[in-house]
Amino acid sequence: MSVKTPVYLDYQSTTPVDPRVVTRMLPFFTERFGNAASVEHRFGWEAEEAVAQARERLATSIGAKPEEIVFTSGATESNNLAILGVAWAYRRKGDHLITVATEHKAVLDPFEAWRREGGQVTVLPVGRDGMLDLQRLEDAVTDRTTLVSVMAANNEIGVLQDLEAIGRIAKNRGVLFHSDAAQALGKIDLDMDAMGIDLLSFSGHKIYAPKGIGGLYVRRRNPRVRLAPQIFGGGHERGLRSGTLNVPAIVALGEAVFLARTEMTEEAERLRTWRDKLWTGLQRLGGVFLNGALEPRLPGNLNVSFDGVAGEKLLLGLQDLALSSRSACTTASDTPSHVLAAIGAETEAARAALRIGLGRFTTEAECAYAESRIVEEVKKLRVRAAWHAAV
Ligand SMILES: *Cc1c(COP(=O)(O)O)cnc(C)c1O
Repeated sequence: MSVKTPVYLDYQSTTPVDPRVVTRMLPFFTERFGNAASVEHRFGWEAEEAVAQARERLATSIGAKPEEIVFTSGATESNNLAILGVAWAYRRKGDHLITVATEHKAVLDPFEAWRREGGQVTVLPVGRDGMLDLQRLEDAVTDRTTLVSVMAANNEIGVLQDLEAIGRIAKNRGVLFHSDAAQALGKIDLDMDAMGIDLLSFSGHKIYAPKGIGGLYVRRRNPRVRLAPQIFGGGHERGLRSGTLNVPAIVALGEAVFLARTEMTEEAERLRTWRDKLWTGLQRLGGVFLNGALEPRLPGNLNVSFDGVAGEKLLLGLQDLALSSRSACTTASDTPSHVLAAIGAETEAARAALRIGLGRFTTEAECAYAESRIVEEVKKLRVRAAWHAAV
């Protein structure tokens, strides 16, 4: 078994750009470099045509219309536009927004910004399995609520929320439904009408396209969602997000979502099989805990804690595996994960948590190598801890 180390097992943090995506985007840096807003000449038309095709591919992948897609710099910007855009546009109707404790900081921080503006904010807890309690959501909605924001797939524990049920509640109560789908697009089926989603954020670098590109789906009918723009200047993207379009990155995102959709079933099945095999192998150690429900969960994700093992020591011993112990998007490095805290994993367990993310270029040999190395390292640390306890 030969694997090249370090083995990359951090696909929830970011993904490499698929070589097919690179090939497709390259001409748009050089010979086809036009500005998609230049309507007077061929350079502009070519760029505009390429952007239109990418927009079409994104829309098709989520059951939307091309004119409902707004390109942004990534899911962080999309979340800000969706949350603060709705909050400001509907502030005369109501000032109350609802979200969940396990959301990405790119959702929680705009909520906090709204609270500082004097708005009302409710952050709902989740159960030990990481799932939102739908009754609690129902109970939290008031006649001043304008938006509920619940992510599709969690970036740390991979848990999938019941979007269809949340969408039904939102629709019944006349509240808009936003979902951060950075981890979900191209990995699970997403249908805006069937799920009652009004706004959906996505990101290129989680689906084998470059960093710094993403988008937001904004529903145009039943209801037509109004947004207060957060960036002004030139009126691009129907005035919702000004700034010259990043044509090569948009082309890449379109190709990436097309490939992800085409290969989704096969890829998900492969990753789920290897993930389950890895989980079975790790459980043989005993004293192993899965953080978050096993199902429904992203096919390539595991988040595990080990009894009697400190997370930092485990990671130090596993330098040949590129793993994460918490969300890389949280900058303060020694604070335990807010996601693991929210599912009630105690601080020690949260520190010992390993997030294992398999992806498109993971091989079966790499999974087997990771399993044997984690087992070996946990055993070593436990023997050492027992020896220290004995003296
Ligand atoms: C990565 C990620 C983001 C941030 O996306 P960027 O494109 O890096 O801004 C937001 N939410 C979730 C769930 C993510 O996984």
